[in-house]
Amino acid sequence: MSTSQSPAGAEGTVAAPGANAKPARTGEPLLEVTDLRKHFPVTAGLLRRQVATVKAVDGVSFSVHKGQTLGLVGESGCGKTTTGRMIMKLLDSTSGKIAFEGHDITRYSQARMRPLRRDIQMIFQDPYSSLNPRKTVGAIVGAPFRLQNIQTENGVKKAVQELLELVGLSPEHYNRYPHEFSGGQRQRIGIARTLALKPKLIVADEPVSALDVSVQAQVVNLLEDLQDELDLTYVVIAHDLSVVRHISDRVAVMYLGKLVEIADRDDLYERPMHPYTKALLSAVPIPDPAQRDNRERIRLQGDVPSPLDPPPACRFHTRCWKAQDICKQVEPPLVELSPGHMAACHFPENTTVSETDVVAKAAVVSPEAD
Ligand code: SF4
Repeated sequence: MSTSQSPAGAEGTVAAPGANAKPARTGEPLLEVTDLRKHFPVTAGLLRRQVATVKAVDGVSFSVHKGQTLGLVGESGCGKTTTGRMIMKLLDSTSGKIAFEGHDITRYSQARMRPLRRDIQMIFQDPYSSLNPRKTVGAIVGAPFRLQNIQTENGVKKAVQELLELVGLSPEHYNRYPHEFSGGQRQRIGIARTLALKPKLIVADEPVSALDVSVQAQVVNLLEDLQDELDLTYVVIAHDLSVVRHISDRVAVMYLGKLVEIADRDDLYERPMHPYTKALLSAVPIPDPAQRDNRERIRLQGDVPSPLDPPPACRFHTRCWKAQDICKQVEPPLVELSPGHMAACHFPENTTVSETDVVAKAAVVSPEAD
């Protein structure tokens, strides 16, 4: 692993969207998720009879190519973290398929997953609780080598010190403890641990949301620099649409366990087709006051319905200002309305596709048309 990189992400600003040229989406995806579902039974009584089902994730499909970043966004409770945990195999899926490098890993046992753990790693949200306060940085970052019983050319200590340099820390931090570091530095320690076994895919669950705004940009820049240097593939789960815009190539929007829109980053942010995406984007702060005046702010009415009893047909119809009778009766499938841009809506925005065309496309619907 190279140690020649300057302290990555040291700048306090995030690079402009699209500043880094990424490899094109060609060939087999590294990760392919098809019709993934996670239903949790709700039990009651002495006999613990099942009385209901929470459909936390209910038929989600997407793919991610090598070297690319998929941003998974949505409000709290939409199922994005559950999806990430199923990809990591920390949670078994109820049905559907997860393929990694073309292999179906959906029903892999923990023992069969062990060698794959090198290739698929996770960055956790909370840099305070995800590091053991009683262990030194050296022990924390070196743990994956010991767990996987991996010998390194110049010893684990040298490998850990190289990793610390790679994430913008000092090799001298090796013997220090987590409480001696700031939040941003702790997240860097967590990232160094994640990179120890040179993974191919990283699932980052809210990687910066627990950090001060002033250091969020540094960690986002660090993740981008590391992706370029190590050819990493990311699934970034976040509720902050500004962060997702900067880091993602493609963005998937979830609502109440369903994928409602997926598109290339710029296409989605400039021409959102699903009303829910449009509402979410209308709430993103705009730094330039001149542009703020031109924007229509959409305030959604009511709370997100309970996943225990989601609304029938289009799950968004109870909050959608465009809802009509058909929205309460027929579930809109996720269909491709322009190249690479899919949305699940009977009356999409920013498209010339008519309702009749949407129905016709729905008849030939397929999962992610990548
Ligand atoms: Fe709104 Fe109807 Fe589209 Fe659902 S299908 S998002 S209720 S317009």
